Parts: sequence; structure tokens; C-alpha cells
Amino acid sequence: MSPGINDAVRATMRPSAADLEPYDPTFLPASINLSANENGYGMPDDVQAHVEAALAKVVANRYPQPLSDALRSELAAWHGVDPAQVMVGNGGDELLFNLLLAFGGRDHALVNLPPTFSMYRLYAQLLETAVVDVPRDPDSFAVDVDALVTAARAASLVIVTSPNNPTGDLFPIGDTRRLCEACPGIVLLDEAYVEFAPEGSTAAPLLPEFENLAILHTLSKAFCLAGARIGYVLGSPSVVSALATVRQPYSVNALSQAAALEVVRDRMSFSATIEEIEAERERLAGGLRQLAGLGVRVWPSAANFLLVRVPGAHEVHRQLRDEHSILVRDFSATPGLDGCLRMTVGTPQENDAVLSALAEILKGGSR
Ligand code: PMP
Repeated sequence: MSPGINDAVRATMRPSAADLEPYDPTFLPASINLSANENGYGMPDDVQAHVEAALAKVVANRYPQPLSDALRSELAAWHGVDPAQVMVGNGGDELLFNLLLAFGGRDHALVNLPPTFSMYRLYAQLLETAVVDVPRDPDSFAVDVDALVTAARAASLVIVTSPNNPTGDLFPIGDTRRLCEACPGIVLLDEAYVEFAPEGSTAAPLLPEFENLAILHTLSKAFCLAGARIGYVLGSPSVVSALATVRQPYSVNALSQAAALEVVRDRMSFSATIEEIEAERERLAGGLRQLAGLGVRVWPSAANFLLVRVPGAHEVHRQLRDEHSILVRDFSATPGLDGCLRMTVGTPQENDAVLSALAEILKGGSR
């Protein structure tokens, strides 16, 4: 827990920072952590061995390659783009911050689609960027595409998350095309979870058509590297150069670059676990639907997590944590997400544990 900021310190802060609530994922020790959408299956053994061998060879007394050249080339080859169209960052988070640094600021507007990943708004506020919300449908979370396209006409930056965190839905490619045509600024498709979505879900095929399209991917989710902090943006050389102007030169350390290079080279080795996670997602969703009689609602998801609405969500979250040592994410106080918890798809045993704990808690509560 943060000790808070005293008045004297707050008075000297940048005003836009003094007002912010720090991002707090409320990680607490738990036997089963389904709160951060990591890949809990772990790295396949062959990839782990390659990562360890590469880490052993890293030269750490020299600065790393500023633009992660080796990794950048590998990522470019994977996605069929030029290396000049790839920017690697210290996690997707850094790239989001850099996008707001480069394309935000006073007299600039971010179009945001709440409920969605909270960091977009946080960075925009810190960097004094106006946030124009186009709220999702309160029941289905569908995007109002006409309203979005209208708002995009006056935006410096539009961020669309596909699949969206925490609602799990995809944004159709045809709508991305409309958005890129309408927006004079940058359209960022945050595809942090796209590897768990059906083939053909990425907006990447539109890159050659639109100079203002940028796509964010991360190695934190499907590719088991959350601890190494590696994300990347695919975009036009102009957008990538704009990001280069605001970035810290050595933000991506040599160890992470080396680990990521192996993971990207070995990316096919992750297919089996990704498929298993997708199958487990459907099984977990089925199990949750069977709890409908206890007031549980689950939304369809193309990601490695599910959004569920449960009666007494905040208390359910607490009981899962304190009585069952299962940590999920509590969104029940977030506007638009009344009564909602988000649970990462875990291993079969973890999913069984969360299903039976939830049933037990909800049955107890209804007595
Ligand atoms: N985008 C979305 C939608 C996310 O959920 C996350 C992680 N929570 C990120 C970007 C950033 O991920 P990372 O910094 O680990 O690459």
C-alpha cells in the first residue's frame, strides 16, 4: 500500500500528476493468481532452455542496442513489415506512455472507449490530454461505431483495444478501416491479447493501407514474458520515428532483449498452450454459465480472461482471496462494470478451483 503524498510534496508536483490515483493492480500473495492475465502455463521447456542459454551470453557492462535491432528485425520478419515499422518498448505500457507523449498534450484529444484498460486515461491525464469518452453499450459492451467515427474526426489519438480488457470483445477489421479513414490523428489498435483470438483477428493486414494505423502487441501475455517487460508497436515508419523522438534511449535492457529474441524465434512452440488456454476459456465460461441460477453472468471473450458479474462482487472477491487463496481482479467499483470481476483463464486445476470456490461462496451467501 502506498503511504500517500503529504501536502507539501503534493504542492510541488506537476499539477496533472498531483491529481492522479496511481495504478494499483492490488497484487497480494495467493496460491492461485488469476488477476493479471499472464500465461500461467509457463514457458515450454525447449524455449526456457534457449532463453537461459541466451541470457548466459549477455554482455551487461555495455549499453544495450537502443532500438533492440536484433529483436526488431525478428519481429519485422514475423509480421512481414520493414524493421523501420517496429518499435520495441519496455512493456506495452511504456509504448502507450510514449504514444501519449508524442501524440497527446494540450490541445490534443484522446478518444477512449470505456470500460477499457485504465492506463490510457491515466497517461492522457498526466500529459494534459483531453479524454473524449465514447462509452460502450452498458449491457453488451459493444462499441457505438458511428459515435466513435464521429469523435475520431477531431482526435489526435484513438485507442481501441481488441480484444478489449476487461470485456473480452473484438473490434472488427472493417470498423478499423472506417476509423483510420476518418481520423486525422493516430489510430492505435491495442492487440495485447490477440494471440488468444481467432485467426484473422489482427488489424495488421491494414498497415500497408493506412499511415495513421499503429498496432500494439506484447510478449507479456501469450508468450510468458510479463516479467521481462517487452512490447512492440507496428506502424508506418513515420509513426515509429515519432515514437523514437520521445523515448528513453536505453529503456529496453539487454537481458530482456536477449530473452525476447529467443521467444520470438521459438514462437510456434507456444501454439499448444495457447490452444489449451482457448479451450479452457470455453470450459470455464461453460462452468460459469452453469452458475446462472446463483446470479452469475459471463460475457463471451476472445482473450485469456473472462468478465463475470456476480451478486456481491466485492465481497466475493474478498472471500475468494481470504478463504480460498484465489486472486481475481475486482472491477466492481469501476464505472460501467458494476458487480464485475475479471478472471484470467488458468490451468484446468486452477479453473476447477475457482468454479467450485465461487459456487460455494454464492450458495453460502444465498442461505
Ligand atoms: N494493453 C492492454 C489492454 C493490457 O491489458 C496490458 C497489460 N495489462 C497492456 C497493454 C500492457 O502490457 P505490458 O506492459 O505487460 O506489455
